[in-house]
Amino acid sequence: NKKVIFKDYVSGFPKESDMAVTVDENLKLKVAGDSQGILVKNLYLSCDPYMRLLMTNRSSEIFGTYTPGAPITGFGVGKVIDSRNPEFKEGDLVWGITGWEEYSLLTSSEGLFKIHHTDIPLSYYTGILGMPGLTAYGGFYEVCAPKKGEYVFVSAASGAVGQLVGQFAKLMGCYVVGSAGTQDKVELLKNKFGFDDAFNYKEEPDLNAALKRYFPEGIDIYFENVGGKMLDAVILNMRVHGRIAACGMISQYNRDQPEGVQNLMSIVYKRVRIEGFAVFDYYPQYSKFLDFILPYIREGKVKYVEDIVEGLENGPAALIGLFSGRNVGKQVVVIAPQ
Ligand code: NDP
Repeated sequence: NKKVIFKDYVSGFPKESDMAVTVDENLKLKVAGDSQGILVKNLYLSCDPYMRLLMTNRSSEIFGTYTPGAPITGFGVGKVIDSRNPEFKEGDLVWGITGWEEYSLLTSSEGLFKIHHTDIPLSYYTGILGMPGLTAYGGFYEVCAPKKGEYVFVSAASGAVGQLVGQFAKLMGCYVVGSAGTQDKVELLKNKFGFDDAFNYKEEPDLNAALKRYFPEGIDIYFENVGGKMLDAVILNMRVHGRIAACGMISQYNRDQPEGVQNLMSIVYKRVRIEGFAVFDYYPQYSKFLDFILPYIREGKVKYVEDIVEGLENGPAALIGLFSGRNVGKQVVVIAPQ
């Protein structure tokens, strides 16, 4: 059983050498009879920014931490090989939290979803049909409470969550602008995902001036994925009664000391609502979400871009690549394509 082991707590940017690929020869492909275990063959693993938060010893309130010497964990898609849990049987396809290894023994079925729609690529259950999709859905439709014609700004817009939020905003009849870190990603936003406009934040020395250019009348909705300087500049450009959905703040995850936000008084002046949320708040709505998104995917009305690397041994590089923007679209690692 090949595994990716978390070596030790990380400070600053994570490196490939913070993880090690090892092989455990003691693999039993049966679940012990006295347990409720589910043995899963992992097919696809998901690289997600929150995984960096588990690499510190400052345990975050909702995530906990990785254990040095143990395999890292994350969202994935797998096939049940053996099960003592009455709800799951051999051959079932599932998505949920698993280990970065070829086979994982899951001791709980909490947050494990069965996959019923297999006409769609299975890797999509790490993204548009899985955790990031549900994040975009709950965060945009519920937290942002959008209305037709509103001005929407999305940061990290070409990523797993951002590309969907932008397309949901267009479906709602909003005007949407995205930011991303390369010119190619900017083109993708405009030409593939249908954003009205997009810009490369790395080429804008003054983010406040850039936002004024793209939103001369201000921003009604900001879908926050990056935090830091971008958030500070957005706050100055919000419209009265604007909403900020605080989904994540990737620019802060490698910092020991978070950057301060200077412009909070504008929240008062503009009566802006900032609301954080976590994807598992929306787990009960997963089947409603599938009913919503599947027709759009099948009809090609929502586009989806993923960035696939092959092999567990290439997982660490793919994971740390999220923090330099190496990924174009949803970052997936293929372990076994079934
Ligand atoms: P992405 O697929 O967007 O990958 C991360 C991207 O972030 C990179 O490709 C890079 O793109 C950008 N990025 C990296 N470092 C920085 C930086 N310092 N400043 C600005 N941009 C940066 O990730 P996801 O779509 O999966 O996640 C997006 C956000 O949503 C994250 O903050 C994540 O933590 C959050 N999230 C929150 C959830 C919740 O329950 N609240 C659930 C899922 C995700 P670029 O080239 O554009 O810089």
